[in-house]
Amino acid sequence: MVDVEKIRKEFPGLEREFYGRRLVYLDNTATSQTPRRVVDAISDMYLNHKANVHRGVSTISQEATELQEETRRKITAWINASSIEEVIFTRGTTEGINAVASSFGERFKEGDEIILSEMEHHANIVPWQLLRARKGIVIKVIPLASDKSTLDMETYRRLFTERTVMVSVCHVSNVLGTINPVEEIISIAHSHGVPVLIDGAQAVPHMRIDVRKLDADFYVFSSHKMYGPCGVGILYGKKEHLESMPPYQGGGEMIEKVTFPHTTWASLPFKFEAGTPDFVGISALSAAIDFMEEIGMENIADHEEELLQYATEKLIAVPRLRILGEARHKSAVISFLLGNAHPYDTGMLLDKLGIAVRTGHHCAQPLMSALGIEGTVRASFAVYNTREEVDILVNSIKRVAPILD
Ligand code: PMP
Repeated sequence: MVDVEKIRKEFPGLEREFYGRRLVYLDNTATSQTPRRVVDAISDMYLNHKANVHRGVSTISQEATELQEETRRKITAWINASSIEEVIFTRGTTEGINAVASSFGERFKEGDEIILSEMEHHANIVPWQLLRARKGIVIKVIPLASDKSTLDMETYRRLFTERTVMVSVCHVSNVLGTINPVEEIISIAHSHGVPVLIDGAQAVPHMRIDVRKLDADFYVFSSHKMYGPCGVGILYGKKEHLESMPPYQGGGEMIEKVTFPHTTWASLPFKFEAGTPDFVGISALSAAIDFMEEIGMENIADHEEELLQYATEKLIAVPRLRILGEARHKSAVISFLLGNAHPYDTGMLLDKLGIAVRTGHHCAQPLMSALGIEGTVRASFAVYNTREEVDILVNSIKRVAPILD
């Protein structure tokens, strides 16, 4: 089981006080806190191993390269990719989706159709709209089912035509917490010969991901949501796809030979890594994976599931509180509204009581439209959160409710 007190010692930020109260950090969906070992790894890299990667004959450059590549090997094993060639470093989920839309999407023709879902983050909508403006593709949308929590899988099946060329959906909704049946989504798409991108930003920190078991064609995620540094992300892609795709950006590192008439590309994964990467952040991400693996992904999932159950039970008992997102398979994300109170007001008052939640549309405006609301208050949990913090949240909501509603 999870020794939360021991884990919390790695996060000095959790001891901070705001307005005379110890911080209750419940904005983990936006970004997680960072354990000391990750910050130590960043600092060690800057202080002792800073030399540009892949270019150097010097021992220090080779050292930096090795530290970066160690992370790539670790990620490859962690998500069960077939080889390091399938693991590309990006700036984050957003860049990963943009890279696929722009590069894989290059082959799409006017009238080709892609399928997204109504619960997508803007990061999995706008890159496809940019592609639509360039290529004239058609965007189709899987609607929410009548439970307003899960995807309407019947409609999904019916959206396929002979023009469908891509499906791109989130593994876990950052607003509803819904864990989508991505294995089924992928297998339906594959039965039509259609590849699938999975936005795993909200899944990877909370459950074990096996890209081969899922049979995902692309899987993207961000380091900063999984206890790692900011500015680093991963784009997993099946080798056969990556090999068939043109580079996303041009520059140093991604070439084999440059002449003015003609340039050839470096082999995978470097073809998609133009310029100097954030090798400091990438190497420190390794420590974040160690942190999670030491606890165990299954234990993290169990601990968060317990917090979710406990918090849900307590919150539904609060008068005039409405939870949005009641899927049976749900990650520890709770969006709610309190009577007629504006989410921003609720969030601001909770902040004055030392609780960090997020308010607003959560970069999912189409989902807000589907729910007929402008925004929610969102409390989201990580492995260092406790039942005591849930109690503080619930008591604080009860305290602010009469002022707001
Ligand atoms: N997709 C989902 C589901 C997300 O929750 C987020 C971050 N809120 C993103 C994509 C974008 O991630 P990033 O900003 O790290 O690129």
